[in-house]
Amino acid sequence: PPNARIAVVTGGNKGIGLEVCRQLAGAGVTVVLTARDETRGAAAVEKLREAGLSDVMFHQLDITDAPSIARLADFLKARFGKLDILINNAAIVGVEYLLDPFDSSPTSEEKFSGMDKRQRIEWLTSVVRGTYDAAREGLQTNYYGTKHVIEALLPLLQASSDGRIVNVSSEWGLLRLINNEELKQELNDVEKLTEARLDEVLDTFLNDFKAGELEARGWPEHFSAYKVSKVTMNAYSRILARRHPELRVNCAHPGYVNTDMTIHSGPLTPEEGAANVVKVALLPEAGVTGAFFEDGEEAPFV
Ligand code: NDP
Repeated sequence: PPNARIAVVTGGNKGIGLEVCRQLAGAGVTVVLTARDETRGAAAVEKLREAGLSDVMFHQLDITDAPSIARLADFLKARFGKLDILINNAAIVGVEYLLDPFDSSPTSEEKFSGMDKRQRIEWLTSVVRGTYDAAREGLQTNYYGTKHVIEALLPLLQASSDGRIVNVSSEWGLLRLINNEELKQELNDVEKLTEARLDEVLDTFLNDFKAGELEARGWPEHFSAYKVSKVTMNAYSRILARRHPELRVNCAHPGYVNTDMTIHSGPLTPEEGAANVVKVALLPEAGVTGAFFEDGEEAPFV
């Protein structure tokens, strides 16, 4: 359709990202499903096309790879000259799994059905191990990767009359997870906060990780890099929203979802998780910006 809105979804080949693509396409949006792996991405597009969603196309994107980001930007510019919706969904968990996440999927229903949320998270915590390398990779992907994609696609979003960014965040990105009052306040003071300061905060985190000082310095104990990456991504989103009043820049927590990332421990289906993201992407024009959404409803960043 000539007047359709154009959306890019990162990490669109599986999990929540794939369902976001399906739901946006179902709402009449032209979807550029991106994935770092060509084969997995093309297969995902094929799946959506078979389901009757013809207005979905594939483009390769590894959010940690600058040339890959540049190629996507060039493609969008040449093909559409603008971008209306950017869904930053791609992320990694930033820890090492002690088991193969793919092995547990068929049994997950029985395995988790009697467990409440706390028990499920306890189980998940017991099958991962935090390492420095995984932590660094987690920040590189979730924070810097997302930021670099935004920077590259910003001019195209500004070329839209109603450009929107939805950063798929987490309740594990809320400021209450930081056990350092001063830092928490600093990260919440988005008028003063700068990107350079966020870089420093992330460097300090990695140094504290290396020194074995995570707990002593008030960083989250488990899934620490993941949580810190989402906390800083939230802060960056708020900085961006202030700087670019012409755009809507929001963060969305999808809920605790049954995907590979959670080793299928989440109670929500990927469809349900995706609906919480798509709702924010399709908010009425001139809606809220610089906000956090939890399970589809606006909620505080703290
Ligand atoms: P999955 O692990 O199922 O999917 C993650 C997606 O991100 C995959 O497509 C993966 O690609 C992609 N990805 C990872 N690294 C890169 C990269 N460098 N470049 C491009 N794509 C990449 O996770 P979910 O669907 O569960 O998570 C989606 C989002 O939702 C994430 O931002 C996550 O933090 C967030 N979230 C999830 C929750 C949950 O309970 N599941 C809860 C709160 C937030 P590949 O297949 O190649 O690995």
